[in-house]
Amino acid sequence: MRRSEMIEALEKSQEWDLAVIGGGATGLGIAIDAASRGYSTILFERNDFAGGTSSRSTKLVHGGVRYLAQGNIRLVKEALKERSLILKNAPHLSRKQLFVVPSYRWWEKWYYGIGLTFYDLLAGKAGIGKTRIMSTNAVIQHIPVAENHSLSGGIGYFDGQFDDARFAINMAKTAAEQGAVVLNYFPVKELITEKKKVRGLKVTDSISGKSYDIAAKAVINATGVYVDEIIRMEDPASPGMVSPSQGIHLVLEKKFFPGDTALMIPKTADGRVLFAVPWYNRVVVGTTDTPVDTVLTEPLPFREEISFIIYHFNKYLNADIGESDIRSIFTGLRPLVKTSNTGKTAMLSRDHTIVVSTGGLITITGGKWTTYRKMAKDAVDNAVFVGKLKSRLCVTENLKIHGWTEETENAEQLKVYGSDAAAIRLLEEKDPALRQKIHPQFPDTMAQVAQAVNEEMAMHVEDVLARRIRMLFLDAKFALEAAPAVADLMAVYLNKDENWKQKELTQFARLVKGCLP
Ligand SMILES: Cc1cc2nc3c(=O)[nH]c(=O)nc-3n(C[C@H](O)[C@H](O)[C@H](O)COP(=O)(O)OP(=O)(O)OC[C@H]3O[C@@H](n4cnc5c(N)ncnc54)[C@H](O)[C@@H]3O)c2cc1C
Repeated sequence: MRRSEMIEALEKSQEWDLAVIGGGATGLGIAIDAASRGYSTILFERNDFAGGTSSRSTKLVHGGVRYLAQGNIRLVKEALKERSLILKNAPHLSRKQLFVVPSYRWWEKWYYGIGLTFYDLLAGKAGIGKTRIMSTNAVIQHIPVAENHSLSGGIGYFDGQFDDARFAINMAKTAAEQGAVVLNYFPVKELITEKKKVRGLKVTDSISGKSYDIAAKAVINATGVYVDEIIRMEDPASPGMVSPSQGIHLVLEKKFFPGDTALMIPKTADGRVLFAVPWYNRVVVGTTDTPVDTVLTEPLPFREEISFIIYHFNKYLNADIGESDIRSIFTGLRPLVKTSNTGKTAMLSRDHTIVVSTGGLITITGGKWTTYRKMAKDAVDNAVFVGKLKSRLCVTENLKIHGWTEETENAEQLKVYGSDAAAIRLLEEKDPALRQKIHPQFPDTMAQVAQAVNEEMAMHVEDVLARRIRMLFLDAKFALEAAPAVADLMAVYLNKDENWKQKELTQFARLVKGCLP
């Protein structure tokens, strides 16, 4: 997947069937769906793929136990089906995970046990493991650090776990394999309209500064919390449809949460859900739900959010962590849909919302990572109608995500590459310099940096250390230490000078600051 080849294809085409704005889970899913149906498709992302919310999730592939408590059974069933499709079509990027819900009151074990058994039953053939009631000893065996004062057993259930940003990169590659053009660092600046109908986009390549007019039969706005910006390009008076809510995660060393089992607290004292999920060599703890007024590209955690997670981690586990134990913090914005009255609405699911404006702009937002495929299918079905495209069936239920392989790598850092791991091994064999570790505390090598730049469209140090490799999310200080070596190698491949390197390192240092308390 090369940016120069993508730009060449952009310059050759006169008109596209579909233009997609936004390169997060939703937009990339749409590009895969449309291209695999045979529609000519182009996608523009203004930063990096999954640079927004899609790299900052709890990393769960789940039906949503919370929706079950709200009685939203159809939604849970739909997400459970999608969970099984992700595990089937991307086994290198996702896996089954055991979660334990500890019980501190006699009735909790039965109350949550019945609910989670129902969750399991709802999955039907898509089930991935039986929910079970656990004794106190079994809970301690799985979560040795669980607070055991008044612990009275618990429940074990299964859900999925994945690496969100790596999944997105492999989705971009899947879309490209299906014939789509996918471009990062390509902001959409304006919509092109003719007789009040949306006919295309004005875009700029942020790297070269060159601008283009793109003609498309249908335009899909898949910009997550930014959908209102695009909607207002067509209708400046639009009241907007999204009200963002912030969620943060703390990343801690594994010693504070040893083992492979995840923890779920369904209802903290103030009614929130808390997860502690093993991820690579760390544990991810979160999340929060804080309404915010402004949408920042790099949202920052609030002190109250950090304190909330630390307090509850210490409360439910035999731990005494403080701010100095945090290795990284990542903050994401949920696009919560305010209203469905913005134009002509086709509410295809209560989870995500699709709105078609009078000028034909298709906006999709809400939903979750797990349901990206279904969201994409619904959006493309709308685009076929709006763009008067020849109707073709969706094929993504059985479409493997790039890298799918039966032989997964043993080295954990290479598993997510799937079949691409062989290319990284080859780079290491050919050039001893690429065998060097990026950081002494992490297994990743310089060959992964080479792969990121040459095959995965990484343009900045952040793209490599935050999303191609997840070091920024796993350990912000180590990522900062690794940055100069990464910048040096990137400068060679991208033909950049000392000035570029310095700018990159200053920018990255600023980013790291926001990932620490
Ligand atoms: C804290 C938190 C935890 C979550 N945990 C989970 C979980 O465990 N499991 C799960 O299934 N879901 C989870 N979700 C939900 C999931 O992460 C989101 O639903 C999903 O990532 C949204 O993807 P998106 O593509 O719609 O939005 P985004 O990822 O935000 O992508 C939109 C993209 O549009 C781009 N864009 C904006 N304007 C323009 C423009 N003018 N031109 C070009 N591009 C533009 C942005 O740069 C951005 O990259 C979580 C969400 C949050 C906030």
